[in-house]
Amino acid sequence: MHVVTALIVAAGRGERAGSDTPKQFRSLCGTPVMRRSADAFLCRPDIARVLVVAPASHLDVASRMLRGTPAAIVPGADSRQQSVRLGLEALASHRPEFVLIHDAARPLVSQPVIDRVIAALSAGSDAAIPLLKVADSLKRETDNGWTTVPRDGLFRAQTPQGFRFDAILQAHRAHAGVSATDDMALAEAAGLKIAGVPGEESNMKITAPEDFELAETLLAGGRSEFRTGMGFDAHRFAPGDHVWLCGVKITHDHALEGHSDADAGLHALTDAILGAIGEGDIGLHFPPTEEKWRGATSSVFLAHTLALVRAHRAAIVHCDITLICERPKIAPHRDAMRARVAEILELEISRVSIKATTSEGMGFTGRREGLAAQAIATLRLPATPAVAIAAL
Ligand code: MG
Repeated sequence: MHVVTALIVAAGRGERAGSDTPKQFRSLCGTPVMRRSADAFLCRPDIARVLVVAPASHLDVASRMLRGTPAAIVPGADSRQQSVRLGLEALASHRPEFVLIHDAARPLVSQPVIDRVIAALSAGSDAAIPLLKVADSLKRETDNGWTTVPRDGLFRAQTPQGFRFDAILQAHRAHAGVSATDDMALAEAAGLKIAGVPGEESNMKITAPEDFELAETLLAGGRSEFRTGMGFDAHRFAPGDHVWLCGVKITHDHALEGHSDADAGLHALTDAILGAIGEGDIGLHFPPTEEKWRGATSSVFLAHTLALVRAHRAAIVHCDITLICERPKIAPHRDAMRARVAEILELEISRVSIKATTSEGMGFTGRREGLAAQAIATLRLPATPAVAIAAL
């Protein structure tokens, strides 16, 4: 049997996925992306060794995520190519016959794809690459407009890309100064014999924030359901010179009275989201009797709620807040409020709506004794099977 090793490249900073945490360390249906990718290789008896290249700044995180597995970790470098090279050099002393180089950002890789790559190498190829035909029309923007690029013979390359170990290590060493988008490019430059094998659409690369939602849907077998929660909150005006609303500080001739910063907009939204995942209300998680929440910024409540959402493997699809008050005027602050709520919830701004109304001078908001807020949140969760009611 051939000695096969796997090199999982997890050293990127993942900035395009819209979070401070590199995308490969974020949770996908409760398991970090990188761990899912590593598990796809760790579960195979025909793979002797799994090595993960992690950012030097996140070695402890990577190590925690791989605890209990035989995977080894080495620090990466600034570029993907340099990181792969460091991984290959670390494997060299083990003298593997084949190496499968896989991007951690493809956590949905299937066993048949890995089978095909190993089979092509075993059949005598120097390199084996999962490829998918390009189905969309391709356009190139030029100085004068657009031209259509013939797609005949064009393919998209995925990972794992498999290689004879000595050949790809040599190619990396020989092209250390050349920038390549993947390892296949170096194999091409080195004149290696390359076999294409069928890739899979589900072997997607997580790049943008919305890719997480698509990947979670695929993991749930494509079955998901939508749940809605609603929230309401009101706070009384008190002496002061500013209010907090939807995470934005607004100069006003009064403040709002409350144990925390009294941000009724964020409180209503927090309750709406908690409602959609059946996790009680804001008072249950942040009791006003607890001293530690005195004067707390309500973004903390919302961020904690987002963590609960993720623990439920849920995703926020949309939220809509209505602020009810005569003063302050909301319109000048609407864009800043949307941006702040979107930032806290790690959502695109289009998924956050802020509206304002008055009560036409009626009731406590009309008398300017205080203001109120309502919110609706829509969440997508993995579908749970309907339970049969035996008694019927
Ligand atoms: Mg409140």
